[in-house]
Amino acid sequence: MSLRVTILGSSSAGNCGLLQADRHCFLIDAGFSRKQIALKLQTLGVELDALSGIFITHEHSDHIRGLSPLSKIPGIRFYANIKTQQAIEAHKPLAVDWQNFGTDSLTIEGLEVRPFGIQHDAVDPVGFRFNYQGECVTWALDVGRITDTLIPHLTQANTLVMESNHDTDLLWHSERSIALKTRITEAHLSNNDTFSFLKKYQEQAKWKEIYLAHISQECNSQQCLKEAIEAAHLTSTVHIVRPW
Ligand SMILES: [Zn+2]
Ligand SMILES: [Zn+2]
Repeated sequence: MSLRVTILGSSSAGNCGLLQADRHCFLIDAGFSRKQIALKLQTLGVELDALSGIFITHEHSDHIRGLSPLSKIPGIRFYANIKTQQAIEAHKPLAVDWQNFGTDSLTIEGLEVRPFGIQHDAVDPVGFRFNYQGECVTWALDVGRITDTLIPHLTQANTLVMESNHDTDLLWHSERSIALKTRITEAHLSNNDTFSFLKKYQEQAKWKEIYLAHISQECNSQQCLKEAIEAAHLTSTVHIVRPW
């Protein structure tokens, strides 16, 4: 396949994906240390120096932990909107080629990149839809709510990387404070949110593969997700990106 996404890891401990459009390699977020990312890439036969750029969704540490050391890669570009760049650089500016985007799509080496706004507790968080030679990958993590504007970006993907953060019962029965539980329900999609959406739209969507990601280590389980997958009768292949 000419356009391919590989998830190097996804949970509140760190999020990072490798997007390959033929020989062009990009990261989507960099929520692990440079060393961890280098090791994960090595297992895929990709060297750090091969990275052309990093697409940044928002400034939370589980998405940007490795950015500063990765800025030293010669010629690398960081793609982010201006508010996210400012939030990242609030403490320490990065000497890197920043490429700011708005809401319009941009084209890089034939790869069309469409950022779209998502509801999350960050300054200007986005997801990304990537189109390349007829293939479409959508990356939508840290999604507080599935709004109408989000739906076309999610349904047009052949490969959808989507959040299924927590099981509502496990979250409310967890030891977390009420404030944190409320924050999580407002900033992340529950299994119910995700599967209601997948069931409702699977007829019209172009999904071949769905990756369920940004899964909570404590407030979700493989059992819950497997039951949800079975009950949804999805025709596409569903992968659980394990945080455990
Ligand atoms: Zn976040
Ligand atoms: Zn996150």
